[in-house]
Amino acid sequence: MDCVYCDSTVEEHDPVYVAEGAVDAEPMAFCNYACLTTYVDEHGLADGAACNWSP
Ligand SMILES: [Zn+2]
Repeated sequence: MDCVYCDSTVEEHDPVYVAEGAVDAEPMAFCNYACLTTYVDEHGLADGAACNWSP
């Protein structure tokens, strides 16, 4: 699986998977929390969606 943020193969790092919204939604994969938090910052997902995370 490729990192949503930087397109690296997440399995080569310390992968973090985020399922957003619906149960059957495609999970987003990030190589690590740095990519996750940067992606969230750039897309403003921290506003309102934070309670859906399961780190
Ligand atoms: Zn990444």
